[in-house]
Amino acid sequence: MTNKLRYFIGNWKMFGDFGSFRIIHRINQFSYKSRKRFKKKIIICVPNTLIHFFSKKLKSRFISLGVQNCHHHQSYGPFTGSVNASMLKRAGAEFIILGHSDNRSEGETNQLIKKKIKSALNEKLNIIFCIGETFKEKKSGKTFFTLRKQIRNSIEKKFKINKIIFAYEPVWSIGTNKVPKIDELKKIIKFIKSEIKKIFKKDSYPKILYGGSVNDSNIRLFSSIPDIDGFLIGGASQSSKKFIDIVKNYYK
Ligand code: PEP
Repeated sequence: MTNKLRYFIGNWKMFGDFGSFRIIHRINQFSYKSRKRFKKKIIICVPNTLIHFFSKKLKSRFISLGVQNCHHHQSYGPFTGSVNASMLKRAGAEFIILGHSDNRSEGETNQLIKKKIKSALNEKLNIIFCIGETFKEKKSGKTFFTLRKQIRNSIEKKFKINKIIFAYEPVWSIGTNKVPKIDELKKIIKFIKSEIKKIFKKDSYPKILYGGSVNDSNIRLFSSIPDIDGFLIGGASQSSKKFIDIVKNYYK
């Protein structure tokens, strides 16, 4: 196991209430206690309704908080039910997930995601940018084509690469208990890295996570891929025990 920094990012999706702070509290305690043993960065992305309360309550250097989407419009506007990056930043978010397949499947395009990334970067938020192919695309041999398009149509050379974490999340793997074969995943991570390097300077070091049905048993499989900088964890991040076990087992 290398001593490279690893990201463990929780995506709570549309789950959680004020009482769920106990999950954050336990993860924070674990993060503090294991700070010398594991070189890790823990980020929990919560629903918008919780970010302000949690960020005020959490006084910690050991975990960070984020949200899961925003409207692309930079300032206030007549967009019923929406919040922009600036509002989320002021409510306490440090990170934001953009391009998640849950939102792509509701019609979010690469162009729209690009606008959201721009607006979140303007607010100095850190982006967790999700890409990934559907099952149909995988079956028809279009994985690389899809990933290239998602990257090229949403990422611009002038974006700050060190503010963007890429998360490879095959859509067919999210919430299904199915994960890619390790050899396949290695090739895909390499491909994503090379595509990003084509946009940014050659010596840029893009951070790439894997996400999709990560749990405390399959996490060991992924530790054999040194190129992976961490994990985006959905279902299992809604339990402090499952989330902590994933981190512990990764380093075993
Ligand atoms: C996700 O929704 O980002 C995700 C990775 O979900 P899960 O871990 O539940 O597959």
